[in-house]
Amino acid sequence: MTKRIFRSIFLVALAVFVASLTLVMGVLYAHFSEVQRDQLIMQTDLAVQGIEHEGAAYFKDFRITGDYRITWVSADGAVLYDSRLPGSEMPNHLDREEIREALENGSGESARYSDSVMQRSLYIARRLSDGTVVRLSVAQYSVWMLLLGMIQPIAIVMIVAVVLSLVLASRLAKHIVKPLNDVDLDKPLLNEEYDELKPLLRRIDDQQRLLKQQSRDLQRRKDEWDALTSDMNEGLVLLNEKGNILSINHAAKTILGTNRHSVGRYILTVARHLDLEDALYQAQTGKHFSKVVNISGREFQLDASPVVSHGSVSGVVLLLFDVTEQRQAEQMRREFTANVSHELKTPLHAISGYAELMKNGLVKPEDIDRFSDRIYTEAHRMIRLIEDIIHLSHLDESVSDLHFETVDLFAMAQETVEGLRPQAEAAGLTLELAGESVALSAVPQMVSAILFNLCVNAIKYNRPSGRVSVRVYADNKTAVLTVEDTGIGIPPESQNRIFERFYRVDKSRSKEVGGTGLGLSIVKHAAQVHGATVSLESELNVGSTFTVRFPISR
Ligand code: ADP
Repeated sequence: MTKRIFRSIFLVALAVFVASLTLVMGVLYAHFSEVQRDQLIMQTDLAVQGIEHEGAAYFKDFRITGDYRITWVSADGAVLYDSRLPGSEMPNHLDREEIREALENGSGESARYSDSVMQRSLYIARRLSDGTVVRLSVAQYSVWMLLLGMIQPIAIVMIVAVVLSLVLASRLAKHIVKPLNDVDLDKPLLNEEYDELKPLLRRIDDQQRLLKQQSRDLQRRKDEWDALTSDMNEGLVLLNEKGNILSINHAAKTILGTNRHSVGRYILTVARHLDLEDALYQAQTGKHFSKVVNISGREFQLDASPVVSHGSVSGVVLLLFDVTEQRQAEQMRREFTANVSHELKTPLHAISGYAELMKNGLVKPEDIDRFSDRIYTEAHRMIRLIEDIIHLSHLDESVSDLHFETVDLFAMAQETVEGLRPQAEAAGLTLELAGESVALSAVPQMVSAILFNLCVNAIKYNRPSGRVSVRVYADNKTAVLTVEDTGIGIPPESQNRIFERFYRVDKSRSKEVGGTGLGLSIVKHAAQVHGATVSLESELNVGSTFTVRFPISR
């Protein structure tokens, strides 16, 4: 812009200068011509007086200077004298306009191109008293000749004018542009240098306020969106039509294992996954995609939906739900059902087998007692199994409507121990309880189930003359229950698995002692409901210690 203004000012200055020069030259030319004419008239009048007085002798030794020329013509047009050429060589001058005028009116004047001297001349003629005519002429300068004559001063003036206009144009251009460069666009209305700019600046100010308002609105919406999506457990990713990430929430970053600089990047460079590629492709072609996929060892329900606007896909929404627990629960339920059927079938088969034999009279009378005892034992096992199953399903289903109340763990342990004392004594075991009264918020039936199953196991899997020690005490903010036995112990490889449903280290031993394989599952489940932890220390053929730590308050 500065250049343009500079150029314009410079050209205008130059044009003004050239125009002024032309005008001055025109005026000068007119002035010089007038002065020349006046001088010529005066010279002619002087010559007229000289000739009138001296006649032809006037021209004797006559000297004329400069561009002047004098011609004396007789009344018939013959040249009597000419200061340039001999009169005899000159043609008749009667046809000359000024001569004719002088002969007729006494004086004549004309300006024309002279063939004899090859230049434009001004002629003044006067008739003398004897009828002859004297004519003075002077070569007239053309404008160009004048210009040529003044070329030096003109050139100097021109150079000065050009330099001056260059400097002025440059300064002026900078001066004009400076306020424009200095315009503070953040505060457009404070710039008051040019009135002409005010409408534009007002417009900029309006636009800026609008933009600020819009960006505030956008930021607010983004904050709302971020607040909404950041707390979601589900992964949510918004992609544009090319698959570049527009928005990704915290959960999705964690699931896909990406960092916080993933916005703007192509999703498949952020998370390389075959199913993700499929999902993206399907959604980009306008189809919905839904599949359970495995990402980093966990199961996710991956949903990809196209965002369609004006008939074409303008984006893709990816949703990732963690369904690992759900799938595991389904799997466990399936296994549990299969196990239950299997566990129930065995005693039922035994019962029906013995009963059939007895019904068909195939059992000897002395074996009847043994057979009925087996039927009784198997039936009892079934009852215990069914009771445990019912117990577990209650735990599975009624987690939400549990009634917590303050219980004394020591008192409950005492109740359990006393209930089991006959069984312990029958097995030749010492059963002891130690500790202190600890109150905690718990569901009494569940605490009973924990105490009962741990103590029963300690009795069942003990050795003759062994010992079972139950202890209850408070440790910081936890109520601790330990059940220690001097039994057969649990091999290290099974220690993690004994809490699984129907898992038994030694199936026949478990059956022999009336186990169902569900006792420790009930313990684990009930402990979880209370936020309690169950730990185990066990050494084969030495004994086991189960420790349950209950938080005292919920
Ligand atoms: P079960 O009804 O078979 O006792 P549990 O779930 O109570 O079922 O226990 C699972 C398995 O853990 C048992 O079969 C047994 O092998 C082992 N077990 C549990 N408690 C003890 C213990 N105190 N000492 C040794 N083994 C034990």
